[in-house]
Amino acid sequence: MKQLFGGGIHPEGFKELSRGGEPTPVPAPETVVIPLRQHIGSACEPLVSVGDSVLMGQKIGDGDSRSSPVHATVSGTVTAIEEREIPGGDRVKCVIIKNDGKDTPAPMTGRASWLSLSAKEVADIVRECGIVGMGGAAFPTNSKIASTAGKTADVLINACECEPYITSDDTEMCCFTEDVIGGARMLCKLLGAKSSIIAIEDNKPEAIEALRAALTEDDCVEVRVLPTRYPQGAKKQLILAVTGKEVAPGARSGALFNVTTTANVYRAVTKGQPLLEKIVTVTGDGVNEPKNMLVRIGTSFADVIKAAGGIKEETKQVIAGGPMMGKGVDTLDVPVVKGTNAILCLTAECDAAADPVCIRCGKCVDVCPMYLQPLYLYRYALAGDKAMLDEYYLNDCMECGCCSFVCPGKLPLTATFVEAKHMLKKGGK
Ligand code: SF4
Ligand code: SF4
Repeated sequence: MKQLFGGGIHPEGFKELSRGGEPTPVPAPETVVIPLRQHIGSACEPLVSVGDSVLMGQKIGDGDSRSSPVHATVSGTVTAIEEREIPGGDRVKCVIIKNDGKDTPAPMTGRASWLSLSAKEVADIVRECGIVGMGGAAFPTNSKIASTAGKTADVLINACECEPYITSDDTEMCCFTEDVIGGARMLCKLLGAKSSIIAIEDNKPEAIEALRAALTEDDCVEVRVLPTRYPQGAKKQLILAVTGKEVAPGARSGALFNVTTTANVYRAVTKGQPLLEKIVTVTGDGVNEPKNMLVRIGTSFADVIKAAGGIKEETKQVIAGGPMMGKGVDTLDVPVVKGTNAILCLTAECDAAADPVCIRCGKCVDVCPMYLQPLYLYRYALAGDKAMLDEYYLNDCMECGCCSFVCPGKLPLTATFVEAKHMLKKGGK
């Protein structure tokens, strides 16, 4: 199979470390920490007060149309509403709930016969259930449904999971195949599309087989297998790979949904199930029992790692997400949030050189899937030269990490671009 987008790399996958079998449920923790912002958009305001009793699945935070509600993931008592650190380092207001161990559920209203529902009605249900994009962006899914209904020929379901080590989407497809296919059919019908294309890389043979086995002869869902290449799961690269069409700079990517998001849309509509738990890959050579785990939102990284046999003494770094786009965490006292797909524990330090030197080999240019020139961006970022960073399209950098991965001079390219973007946002020189 030929490569379908420019640039990219073939890092070692390490997927075999965690792949296979059902996800292991992590015991419900004594306390959950539910951040009031777990999505792109405005933060929620708390709907509960300290001392209130809450039910599992009860909505405890909501906000304006650009926010996505959050829910209690255990039943119990609200003990505090305060700022806590979340993965990525931000401090966000959180609702802290002491678990009463009863899992007393809030009522849920499912709709088995969803065919009569409009896209607007489904978008409202999806919003109420707090479904956000689970491929990393955490964009409220209801907004995407509302903005693409009636405007799309094909729905694209992103099942690439191209980042090394992570196998949570793979596990979702193997273990919850009916929800994935049901969600793909639902989105196709609701958005008025002719088909839903599940785009999956060829390194997931079990998931491909499970998905194909669940299709009917005249299904509106198609499983499209792509050659494995990082970062194929990035939206512009995936759209190009599947449709052959370039997404213009600044244009929206349209009806593109992550595969686990798709399954959660289905559960929200058919069961009335809010987003309370998710599959998290706990992996790397720094954890004793790498595996996929079913984790309630709000469970601490420490509790999840403990349930995976604990961390090894020689572990040097813990990353929320994968090695290419994940963010290192300084403390394990951060909660799993809706966008957490992996906890990666590594015994090796990030091997940035003490005295990095560009030897002008051009490898970073060859692999950049956005056709940027990282070596020059790096130079202008160090100089804080806003005009040149604009001229060299810094803001098109999607922080995929390909350039850093191949750089023989071990320049911290991607990390420098992230900092430079912050500098530009703050109005640096
Ligand atoms: S890959 Fe590294 S050493 Fe090579 S040109 Fe790019 S920045 Fe310079
Ligand atoms: S991190 Fe940015 S500059 Fe580097 S390869 Fe990815 S898109 Fe290109």
